[in-house]
Amino acid sequence: MADEKSKTTKLKEKIMMTEPKGVKSLTKKEIKKADEFCVGYKKFLDNSPIEREAVRYTVGLAESAGFAKFDPEAEYRAGDKVYYVNRDKAVALAVIGEYGVKNGARLAIAHIDSPRIDLKPNPLYEPNNLALFKTHYYGGLKKYQWTTIPLSLHGSVVKLDGTVVDVSWGDDENESCFCVTDLLPHLAQEQVKKPLAKAISGEDLNVLIGSRPYDTKDEEKDLVKLNVMSILNKKYGICEGDFLSAELCLIPSFKSRDIGFDSSMIGGYGHDDKVCAYPAVMAALDVQIPEKTCITYLTDKEETGSDGNTGMQSDFLRYFIYDLAKQDGVEGYRALSNSTCLSADVSAAFDPTYASAYEANNSSYINNGVIISKYTGHGGKYDTSDASAEYMGKIRALLEKNDVLWQVGELGKVDGGGGGTIAKYVANMNVDVVDLGVPVLSMHAPFEIVSKTDVYMAYRAFFAFFDEKD
Ligand code: MN
Ligand code: MN
Repeated sequence: MADEKSKTTKLKEKIMMTEPKGVKSLTKKEIKKADEFCVGYKKFLDNSPIEREAVRYTVGLAESAGFAKFDPEAEYRAGDKVYYVNRDKAVALAVIGEYGVKNGARLAIAHIDSPRIDLKPNPLYEPNNLALFKTHYYGGLKKYQWTTIPLSLHGSVVKLDGTVVDVSWGDDENESCFCVTDLLPHLAQEQVKKPLAKAISGEDLNVLIGSRPYDTKDEEKDLVKLNVMSILNKKYGICEGDFLSAELCLIPSFKSRDIGFDSSMIGGYGHDDKVCAYPAVMAALDVQIPEKTCITYLTDKEETGSDGNTGMQSDFLRYFIYDLAKQDGVEGYRALSNSTCLSADVSAAFDPTYASAYEANNSSYINNGVIISKYTGHGGKYDTSDASAEYMGKIRALLEKNDVLWQVGELGKVDGGGGGTIAKYVANMNVDVVDLGVPVLSMHAPFEIVSKTDVYMAYRAFFAFFDEKD
């Protein structure tokens, strides 16, 4: 009979791996939910280009969902919700579980810093009657992508008297913005012969910020520079010396946009890693009374190696868990040793235009759901934690049980390059951890692309992880 499955088909279905189910398997209703979820995500993305802004926006979301500032001396009960901010650049959201952290906590950790261009400590100069900023790029970026696009200036300046001034200039399309210039093709005969990595150097990333001199009859030098500084002084009350105690970043000034005739994708700046941060935050906001305390932690400095007191190598999260453990009458190290973690970071989606960089069988694809990466790092499995078969088994079963679309993913071909995440630093605390995140096209570009259903599946995965009963 024609509709009877053959023996071979049956055997195949039983023991062979099938193609990832992908977006095809989703109902219209589920796709609509994904689209709706992404409305909130785009707002988060547009309001969180740098880590300080991401922390502020997250705290706002958390407070409206009933989270209160963490007090190490207070006593917490199951269902209590707290947030804990680290130096305005990292934040933990915790929902206290039925057993607290006695049997460990469940952690979802994403990063909220993204590649960008930072100002040097002494940035302002005036060559040939133009005012420019000297910069030092932040994170792994292809420098040529950052020329000739509109840029905004975001960050904070600390004045001599200790006042902190927040700066945000260039996002509104009616407001001026800034730009790194590039050489015209007519004169670029030498430049275009250079390899991509060398065509634009780090010291070439100078940002054009003004061209009119200060209005005076006095014969003074550097009047364009003076004019720029007087505008900044008027608006923010800052002086040139204040740049020394500032963190100012240039980021693309465009907002996120839907991509494709079907609006199935989102283009925007900083998907890496806000696209995992937002779903992890929403999972913490939505989980009711979990069995184990659930913590979403948004960390800083991942793009430059997770160093420093706001990066994942800092003891901030460890101490937070120690504080929670103290309340529950267990040793902090025991709470940590029993904890499990999803290292929530993006991975490279297969790009058919650059197919040769990928190994098709172990790549992740747009619209196939969240990616589990057993390990990241580079050639020879260096610089990574390699999740155990047992933990992979646990997470795989969890995703299957909860109908989350998922796929495996290794970042490109062996020896083709590589990249790390915070997973290894979490593993070093004796925590079971694996990378789980969203596939991204054009990662680290000023305009990265993700699929809406993948973003939603990340939320579903984090929620299932938090809500799991052991
Ligand atoms: Mn990342
Ligand atoms: Mn990155």
